[in-house]
Amino acid sequence: MSQGPDADLADAVRDAAGVRVERCYQCGKCTAGCPMARHMDLAPNQIMRLAQTGDPGDREALLRSLAIWCCAGCLTCTQRCPRELDPAAVIDALRELSRREGKVSPRGRRILAFHEAFLASVEHTGRMSEVPLVGLYKLWSGDIFQDLAVAPAMLARGKLPLIPHVIKGRTEIRRIFEACRAKEKA
Ligand code: SF4
Ligand code: SF4
Repeated sequence: MSQGPDADLADAVRDAAGVRVERCYQCGKCTAGCPMARHMDLAPNQIMRLAQTGDPGDREALLRSLAIWCCAGCLTCTQRCPRELDPAAVIDALRELSRREGKVSPRGRRILAFHEAFLASVEHTGRMSEVPLVGLYKLWSGDIFQDLAVAPAMLARGKLPLIPHVIKGRTEIRRIFEACRAKEKA
């Protein structure tokens, strides 16, 4: 099924995350256990509810929400759900849709920049490497000067190795990234 702007959201989420959001009966257990709920503009159970409705306004509210970028992926919601649903996977699918449709909330853009910098670092060195991660994050977020004052102390303590460590299996890691991109285009 297409996941373009006109796709029904519940179907798109089911295709991407394998979760049938219509099975959520709004008990709120996911929200009660979520460590990030107080930072979210929509609580996890509200996210599930809006994903059920099929209303274009609800779809827009979800894809433009900050909540989907606040999720820390801890899976507490998924563990607690009495319906064995996976709100964390739903949120992941919503993030991807939001990114693809250019609807990332202004405050979510810095979090997205961090995600992308992290993945680029893993793709090119095979692991999370501090300098590429920080450098790319600053470049893509525009947050050039944040925390710059702590850099000398970190360098002095060897916490910011200027030459990133590259793992032996880097080629295989790159192949995984390429396979994911090919799957995304299919
Ligand atoms: S815990 Fe499960 S059933 Fe309850 S509101 Fe959350 S997603 Fe819905
Ligand atoms: S995975 Fe996300 S939504 Fe679920 S409990 Fe953790 S932070 Fe909250």
